[in-house]
This record gives sequence, structure tokens and C-alpha cells, in this order.
Amino acid sequence: MDFSRIESAVSVAALKQKHVTMVGGAYRLIDDLAKCGVGSFSIVDFDCVSPSNVARQDFNSTHISRRKVEVAAERLHKTNPDIETETHILNYCALSEEDHDQLFGHTDLFIYSADSFLVDARGNREAIRLGKPSLFIGLYPGGRASEIIYWYPGLTPACYRCICASRYQAFAKGQSNVSSNGSTIFDLRMVDAVAGQIALGLLTHGADNRYGKLLEQLGNRNLLQTKIDPSYTLNGKDIFRKYLGNHPANFSFTTIALPMEREPNCPDCSALYDQPTENSQE
Ligand SMILES: [Zn+2]
Repeated sequence: MDFSRIESAVSVAALKQKHVTMVGGAYRLIDDLAKCGVGSFSIVDFDCVSPSNVARQDFNSTHISRRKVEVAAERLHKTNPDIETETHILNYCALSEEDHDQLFGHTDLFIYSADSFLVDARGNREAIRLGKPSLFIGLYPGGRASEIIYWYPGLTPACYRCICASRYQAFAKGQSNVSSNGSTIFDLRMVDAVAGQIALGLLTHGADNRYGKLLEQLGNRNLLQTKIDPSYTLNGKDIFRKYLGNHPANFSFTTIALPMEREPNCPDCSALYDQPTENSQE
């Protein structure tokens, strides 16, 4: 595959050595990461392609009833025959820690895009435990705005659970309502395009190009939200106008990156920061 037109922008040689594990539906995103040079992928999904997937994901009518992971691997090989793929038809949340590490211990970046709180919650724990960068992609109801959260060990203080503490509380009360119904392919492509930028930043952090600088530039701003529907509000408030202003030129299709602090008692990431108990009797 000829990467000559993108090599000035992104570290293709480094990406060829990287392995990305994707749990869920960001099939277009991993294909586009392959186009940037990523060399190998694990794809995790137990679903088959249903007729409703054709309207929203990169499947067509000939794929219906086939395993999503198999269609996705086939597409990656068509993009670049040198790409290595591992497909896993399984329930990510049902894996034991041991099996998880055996299957995914070699991953350089975990992408969670399953439209499932349980997958995100499990993924956050595993990525922290393994010390691997993670990227969480979600759409708000109706596809009217989107959310990207990422974590990079030693760089982002807040993990997914720190940022989404209220979501964990709602889930504990049985009030979780994560669904991307109402999102069109354009909404999904929009969030994937932003997520892809971050994924390249996570995979090539420190490189001397714009993607290598991205994480430093973001600092602790590891919650990104993109406005898609111009009339989107959250609890009656326009969170985008709050930061970007009321000028009519601030229309839509823009992304804000918000600074996040860690929750001191976060059950998932506190262990990374807890100092050993001082026992100085001197
Ligand atoms: Zn945390």
C-alpha cells in the first residue's frame, strides 16, 4: 500500500507496528485507521449484520446475516492485504481477566464503540489494569451530539469512570439509557472522524508531526463533544454556546474539548495514584 501522500502528516512506519482492538461497531473507523498505516487489528463483536445495520454502518445488502467481524476483516484485507486481523465472536463482558489478557494483552489501543455502558465500564477497568490507552465513542440520543472520551496512562488524570461518574450512578439505579437510535450514517461518520484524529494521537504520541503533538495540546481536555443537530441542548442548556458564544456563525458540527479532573475515590483508577501508606516512625 502506497502511503506517500500521508507520510508528511502521520507516522506511518510507527503505525504499521501498532495493534488496535475494537469492541463494537466502529467498522469505518478501523478501516480508516488501516488507511493511515495501522498494521493489525482485533475485532470483537458477537452480532451478525442485520438489515437495519445497512442504513447506519458500512455494510451492504450482500452482508446481511454474516458475522460483522468477518465482513470487517474482509474489508480490511481488501484495503491492505498486508494487514493482520484477529476476529473474536464473543461477549467482551463475559471474558475472564485471564482470557482477556491472553487475547488482547498485545493491544496498543483499545477502542470501545459498542453502544453499551457495560462494555465501556469493563473496557475502562481493563485498559487501566493493562496500562494501555483507551478511546470511548458514543452518540447522544437521536445522534444530535456525540461524545469521545480517551485515556492515556500518565497523561490524562481522569479516566472514563471519573468523567462519567453520574452515568455509573444512573446505571446502578437502573436508569441507564444508552442508545444511538436515531443516528444517521452522517452522525456516525462525524464522530468517527473526530475519534480517528484522537486515535492517531494516542497511537503516535510524541511523534514530530501534528498527530504526535495532539495529546500535549489537549492536556487534560479528554472529554470531547461534537454538536451535530444545530438545536441540540442538554437539560435545556446549549452547552456549545456556553463555551463557543452566541454568534450565529457558531452554528453546529463543532467540537469542544473540556478539561477533566480525576475523582479522588474513583474505584477504577485510584490505585494508580494511591501512595503506599507512610509508616515513618523515625
Ligand atoms: Zn477514574
